[in-house]
Amino acid sequence: MLEVRNLEVVYDDVMLVLRGVSLKVPAGSVVALLGANGAGKTTLLRALSGLLDVHDGEITKGSVTLDGEPVHELSPARLVERGISQVFEGRRIFAELTVEENLRVGAHTAPRRLAENLDRVLTLFPVLAERRESVAGYLSGGEQQMLALGRALMAGPRYLLLDEPSLGLAPALVRQIRDLVVEINKQGVTVLLVEQNARMALSIAEHGYVMETGKIVMDRPAAELLADEDIKEFYLGLGAEGAVKSFRDVKHYKRRKRWLS
Ligand code: ATP
Repeated sequence: MLEVRNLEVVYDDVMLVLRGVSLKVPAGSVVALLGANGAGKTTLLRALSGLLDVHDGEITKGSVTLDGEPVHELSPARLVERGISQVFEGRRIFAELTVEENLRVGAHTAPRRLAENLDRVLTLFPVLAERRESVAGYLSGGEQQMLALGRALMAGPRYLLLDEPSLGLAPALVRQIRDLVVEINKQGVTVLLVEQNARMALSIAEHGYVMETGKIVMDRPAAELLADEDIKEFYLGLGAEGAVKSFRDVKHYKRRKRWLS
């Protein structure tokens, strides 16, 4: 289990961005983390993968434990070795390298299992197998997302942290990515899925958390969140009457949300 307890994160010594976040990702599960822009989701992932330093961020309180052992002081490389890999928002593949070279880069912490992991990734993503020699920059958005996922899997992680894998993708590709996440999870990888696409995330997660301005404001089984009127209204774009709300309505959710009143 990956567990975050009462985590506080400050940027630039002054800006308190996570304000006592607690969250559990049990081994074998898919857990969804939802929240609007700027809620602090990416910051939480940075804390879990040891990348706060790079962004002038620092954990000032709380802990992150992996199977009961504190890991929040480990370097990014040590965390990958311990089985935690992250797929960043915006894909961040190496555009000038080929698909296979990108995948090989992902294996640098697990060189002995390179051939085995490469085989596994190319089986999971036939489109990457077909385009193995292609320069990654020429792949479509969906293919690049698959490459980013594949590269993270090359480290042989036990825990995969996904930051908005569906961002900017057409609905058919979002479904494809969702199915791949389900398959990856079936193969034994635990997933923490950060998404603004709440419907997609909650459709495959067992449990979901909703974050707002650096705090967890909801912590419930995914099925309950899907049925919750506030979640429907503010994150699924549906009013109580089932009508699709405009983005503008949804954007003004802060004023009207009921769970904090
Ligand atoms: P998004 O979906 O837009 O990425 P998010 O929920 O992931 O949103 P974060 O990116 O974690 O949110 O940002 C949380 C807050 O921290 C925001 O107010 C943001 O401006 C601030 N922030 C993020 N990175 C830094 C940084 N390197 N230095 C200072 N402030 C930062």
